[in-house]
Amino acid sequence: MTNCHVLIPSGGSGQRFGGSIPKQYLLIEGKAIVRFSLDLFIGMSEIQSVWVGIAPDLSSDLQKGVDWPNDKKLHVRLSGGESRHETVLKTLELMISEGIPDTDWVLVHDAARPGIEVNHVRALMEAVLETPQVSGGILALPVADSLKQQITTENDDPMIGKGQNRNGLWQAQTPQMFRVGDLKNALLLAINDGAEVTDEASAFERLDKSVKLVVGSPRNFKITYPEDLRFAEQIFTSFSSKEALVGGIRIGQGYDVHRLVEGRPLILGGVLVPSEKGLLGHSDADALLHALTDALLGAAGLGDIGKHFPDTDPKFKGADSKELLMSAYAKVCERGYTLINMDATIICQQPKLSNYIEPMVDTISRLLQVLPTQINIKAKTNEGLGYLGKQEAIATEVCVLINSN
Ligand code: MG
Repeated sequence: MTNCHVLIPSGGSGQRFGGSIPKQYLLIEGKAIVRFSLDLFIGMSEIQSVWVGIAPDLSSDLQKGVDWPNDKKLHVRLSGGESRHETVLKTLELMISEGIPDTDWVLVHDAARPGIEVNHVRALMEAVLETPQVSGGILALPVADSLKQQITTENDDPMIGKGQNRNGLWQAQTPQMFRVGDLKNALLLAINDGAEVTDEASAFERLDKSVKLVVGSPRNFKITYPEDLRFAEQIFTSFSSKEALVGGIRIGQGYDVHRLVEGRPLILGGVLVPSEKGLLGHSDADALLHALTDALLGAAGLGDIGKHFPDTDPKFKGADSKELLMSAYAKVCERGYTLINMDATIICQQPKLSNYIEPMVDTISRLLQVLPTQINIKAKTNEGLGYLGKQEAIATEVCVLINSN
């Protein structure tokens, strides 16, 4: 079996970025940039362990902000150095001292490349492992833009000098994959020789070792300048790795049932329905609004009504379900979604609801600030069968579609 590990050098201070927080610890959607790739590698069964080399003086506030996942695959070490290759070397030495064999493979990945995708990591691993004659491989992209060599004129205006041919030129990305021992030795040699090491592959190039180029993706760009962060926010806010959307449309489903008892008002869809019996519950027991609230929360991946408004909390005793619905929908909107449509079925033997459907549609469309045509409610009996048919309870079922804005 081939053992592969990941090393993320995260000791950098990101001076080019400005500000006091290293760029890999800035947040996108509340998640530190380094966590995007970290979570991806931890989740890959082909990766045995993930090592992160952080600066020894990283403040505890920042540590908390990163919220390192509690996973036995992850090893965070205070092995950050003055430069990237020092961090990589120190972390490699720790990996070896902690039992990782020299002959295992390591994929070194930039902390500030949150857009790496599993299929590209796998393509790199396959390409390297299936080509025994290479020392390693890297993800890279063929250069698409024309390249210009700048010459400086007397008044310091940059001008184009002799053209550069872009044919055969690639832009290096990460991960870069080598054997643990080979990479350690190549970096040690480069440092001893005072050679410039801009990435791991450059330590092998100078030794004339063969390193494979594997096509990566423009999405795997490195966050270097403030504009890159804004670009990353746009990408990951609408398409985060956890919430991959298909066309931005998501579906949600909700179900609720409440017991019918004497001495309670019957409230359905925010409308008071004249009835001898009403629904029993901690709140006003509006089974239709509860199922709708659950469907909306479910569609946005926000859990359920019990999580947000627990019935063990005295605050919600006798709560107006209209308020709960609006509060839940506000959370859905905060996530960047709006309702496309809702379709509901109320299963109720008695009383007859046909006269109250329209007021319910009006109430819900007002609460959610959508058109009445986006809300559909149906009522049916249970043919006298079971507890619903015997008027012991009323049940509701709701489906919603939401769309990312
Ligand atoms: Mg309920």
